[in-house]
Amino acid sequence: MKIKSADFVVSNSDVAKCPKQPLPEYAFIGRSNVGKSSLINMLTNRKSLAKISGRPGKTQLINHFIINNNWFLVDLPGYGYARVSKTSKKKFQKFITNYFEQRTQLVSAFVLVDIRHKPQPIDLEFMQYLGESGIPFGIIFTKVDKLKPKAMDRHVQEYCEELLKTWEELPPYFITSSSKKIGQEEVLSFIEETNNEIEALRNN
Ligand code: GDP
Repeated sequence: MKIKSADFVVSNSDVAKCPKQPLPEYAFIGRSNVGKSSLINMLTNRKSLAKISGRPGKTQLINHFIINNNWFLVDLPGYGYARVSKTSKKKFQKFITNYFEQRTQLVSAFVLVDIRHKPQPIDLEFMQYLGESGIPFGIIFTKVDKLKPKAMDRHVQEYCEELLKTWEELPPYFITSSSKKIGQEEVLSFIEETNNEIEALRNN
């Protein structure tokens, strides 16, 4: 997919106030500092569409961007940041679960995972939640430039083995680096193909 336009639409913490156009939507989420802002900028060929976080856990909003005037990219707040208080954690969970449970045009979530780390309970639990809620998701491994190819293969393999302990099949997954611009085409093609399938179903 060629990115012709990428524009910020709105930020809010209330799913009811999200944009009304019935466009397919893809939501990006992961632990703070996983590289989400960098990935969104890399995918859209923009330097600062998503803000590279100043302080982790600060951007607690649902951010909508419209891409090529035909799909929404959603930047969700990073989860699992220790400095956020318990009350704001609860509030956070509520508006995120509201988003996932009420946003009808959400096609798929992408859970971002830092390739360098072993599978973390918080990420696995979040995927479990998505699965139980019937929300399709893919995994985006970030920062692959930080590992040598062999170590990267091993980490991906270990991650997949961990997932296969609870999942019957693996979700689609993508290997990316924002600093080296790796994986842009794969993620965008996946979105484009999915959008085409939705369009074909609509026309049938
Ligand atoms: P966010 O909190 O998930 O939005 O993460 P950011 O995009 O702000 O990135 C967190 C930190 O990781 C920043 O210092 C980035 O420069 C760094 N980072 C993000 N993506 C990559 C990557 O692909 N490779 C490397 N080496 N560093 C990255």
